[in-house]
Amino acid sequence: MSALLKFSREHTDFPIIDFLNQSTFDELIAIDLSQDRYRYVYNVDEKYWTPSMEGTYSTFFDHISRHVIHPADQQLYREMSDPARLIANLEANHGLYNFEFRAPTPDGSWRWCEQYVVGGDRQNIPNDLIYYYIYDIQSRKDREEGRNLVPVQTRIQLDALTGLPREKDFYTVAEAILADTRINWLLVATDLQHFKLFNEWYGREAGDQVLEDIGHTLSGIAESHDGVAGYMGGDDFALLLPEKGFDPESLYEKLHTVISEHGASIGFLPSIGACYSNGKTSVYQLYDEATLAAQEAKKDYKARVVFYSSALVEQTAEDYKVLSEFKNALANNEITFYLQPQCRAVNGLVVGAEALARWIRPDGTQVPPVSFVPTLERYGFIPDLDRHIWEEVCKWARRSLDKGHPLIPVSVNISPVDIFTMDVPAYFTGLVKKYNLPKGAIKVEITESAYGEDSDMVRNTVQEFRDLGFAVLMDDFGSGFSSLNMLRELNVDMIKLDAYFLRMEETNARKGMHIIESVVNMAKTMTMPIIVEGVETNEQRAYLMSLGCRYIQGYYFYKPMPVDGFESLICDPRNIDPQGFFFKFNEEFHIREFLSDDVYTDSMLNHIIGPAAIYAWHGDDVDIIRFNQQFYQAVGVSDFNERLYGIQQYMPEQEIPLLRETLQKAYNDRLNGASALLTFNKIDGSMARFLIQFYFMNDDGNVKRFYGAARDVTSIANLQRQMDLLSRFVSRTVLFMTVKGDNYSFEVVAHGLEKDMGLTKTEMEHELNTAQFYKRLIPRNESVMWKIGFKCIESKQSITERFMMQTVAGETMALVIDGDYVDDPLSDVKCILSIRKETVQNP
Ligand code: C2E
Ligand code: CA
Ligand code: CA
Repeated sequence: MSALLKFSREHTDFPIIDFLNQSTFDELIAIDLSQDRYRYVYNVDEKYWTPSMEGTYSTFFDHISRHVIHPADQQLYREMSDPARLIANLEANHGLYNFEFRAPTPDGSWRWCEQYVVGGDRQNIPNDLIYYYIYDIQSRKDREEGRNLVPVQTRIQLDALTGLPREKDFYTVAEAILADTRINWLLVATDLQHFKLFNEWYGREAGDQVLEDIGHTLSGIAESHDGVAGYMGGDDFALLLPEKGFDPESLYEKLHTVISEHGASIGFLPSIGACYSNGKTSVYQLYDEATLAAQEAKKDYKARVVFYSSALVEQTAEDYKVLSEFKNALANNEITFYLQPQCRAVNGLVVGAEALARWIRPDGTQVPPVSFVPTLERYGFIPDLDRHIWEEVCKWARRSLDKGHPLIPVSVNISPVDIFTMDVPAYFTGLVKKYNLPKGAIKVEITESAYGEDSDMVRNTVQEFRDLGFAVLMDDFGSGFSSLNMLRELNVDMIKLDAYFLRMEETNARKGMHIIESVVNMAKTMTMPIIVEGVETNEQRAYLMSLGCRYIQGYYFYKPMPVDGFESLICDPRNIDPQGFFFKFNEEFHIREFLSDDVYTDSMLNHIIGPAAIYAWHGDDVDIIRFNQQFYQAVGVSDFNERLYGIQQYMPEQEIPLLRETLQKAYNDRLNGASALLTFNKIDGSMARFLIQFYFMNDDGNVKRFYGAARDVTSIANLQRQMDLLSRFVSRTVLFMTVKGDNYSFEVVAHGLEKDMGLTKTEMEHELNTAQFYKRLIPRNESVMWKIGFKCIESKQSITERFMMQTVAGETMALVIDGDYVDDPLSDVKCILSIRKETVQNP
């Protein structure tokens, strides 16, 4: 009974129950021991798992203490809440005692609670009645978390955002935990991919929210597994817990859920590295190993959880082998480059090329760059490769020009290590001079991740290159560090995006599209031209074009090829685009460019600003077979999905021929399409008017398909009509007569006779609508306005009448009134009345 509170003994004459009743407890349960009943008097909704709100106490107790409470706390709970012991406990403790235990929450995590048990005379509580007050003490526990584990002098300060100990404190606590070598511990390191980008897209607040939620998730796990979690800064977290009973895959799922709750997609997946302590006690070593494993997990979009293993260590041995072999390969001329054409997306004509290193062994086998470039980079030997390739490329460019081949700008790759270890722009200046190359022969690709490292150094290098007249491409844009601001600052000439996301398996392809679209949009707002590499299919090409990407490098057009192949390609002028790259993004995005293709994607539809749909015309019917979100909103009809077949049914009959004529026109003029102002009924009886621009897409047998970009001109159409009228009637007073059911009203839309009548527009409108205007008529004739109005409406004709009125100044004025019936299903204005002076007619 160590947990029993001595509190009440010191406050014997103070009924603690008053105090408890005013405190913020989460639950209050009343137990009637004589009846063996319990009842929840109060219960915070959905915070804890709760059984039925009342019932038999002994059953409740049995169930709770066996199945609900955290296993480690069950014994204590039994001691404290056993119906057979409650009275004795209370007596021994002056009617009040408390204890702490962990209770489950609906999301499956544990939460520390404190239960006060109160009963007896001392507390002014009727006999046999006992109250349980239950409090949430999780945050107190959190604060205390480190206290038991760390030497007293180092108090743990939790990170304000994540609620976790920070790196240093985590190490301290973890070190203490690891000292217990009887347990095999598991250290998990997590890393969120592209988190900077996440902040950029979804906002800092959302980013912080994700970190906070992850912190919360991890502390829950640490809590329930008797481990510790830490926030290692940036987007890195660590978790140390007993190996038994924990599956890092479940952590992956949890983190994934947290991230997707904030709207993010595949590009922001967490990667998880894990390692077992196996008797090791250095947390630093374990964290390094887990981080190494997390790096490995990052590389593979399928294996998101990677365990540190000796294989990862063997990697090091492998690396050394690669390095020593590479030195020889360089000396033996085994290292050369291939060229991969960069093309205009529309027609595949060559506008440039990228030089890609190739290691070809004497026996003809190739070592792919992925198995030596990263190693060279890791160990700082990449400049040896790059200088060699740059020189070879320049040498080749000279030879090619000497052979009379056209100048095709070739990209070379620059690694961040190059930038940090040598003056790259100066080196290039030297090369270009040495081989006497014209401006524009060489462009440079710098991988985006370089910009994340030492931005000043990279920024200066980019600037120098551009000042020297070399175009700079940002390689692998969107892969990790890019942010819109960074892009603005860096001022590169072109962005290179990897279509990796499009090549993902079916289920993720959609998410991949989302990523690409966002990145492309980001680039477009900067008016930055984009080249997409890794494009393999026509579908991808069409999709990317629909987004506005103009250049493509990928197997769809050409694989990387030896220089001979490239030369024979470019010596045929039909293969090359003489215009080359446009580095200024001054071309409009032409819808027709992709309409010639049969491919259309959701994205294409969603991307074009404004409502758009695809129409299928067959026989008498016109169906909508696809539409975008904006279209749906513009139509504003809730059961729109049921109104897609035979859309002509939802149009005024007299307009149906116009729809067909327009489609026919668009069919005949594929290039320009055709447009018409069309009206559609809404469910509420009102009408919407769209100006739709149709383009013919394709024809399969009986069905012709059209793309239609719509503009909702409902309000504009009405306004237009008013404007027409106003210009016609400047010297007149014009009234709109609106009829809705049995009610009619007037609106003065133009008041050319204001001075003559001596009435302002508002005054006149007021008098007309409150039946006071008739007093001004001679003879007093209340009916003249609406009589003419209704006559027009009934006869659907124009009517003219004469009448006299007395002006405000007291003069008599002869007037002519013309009533025009309005034939517009869109409008409630049914008649337009225009009033002019009789004298105007007789000059
Ligand atoms: P990178 O600069 O992003 O180069 C593009 C890679 O995508 C090339 O791989 C290219 O062959 C490949 N690729 C092009 N089109 C397609 C496609 O349609 N589908 C697929 N799946 N892949 C396509 P590669 O040649 O294996 O080079 C890999 C990486 O090695 C390069 O990525 C670059 O980071 C590095 N690298 C290659 N050569 C050099 C070099 O001379 N210097 C440096 N520093 N790095 C190089
Ligand atoms: Ca590249
Ligand atoms: Ca790339």
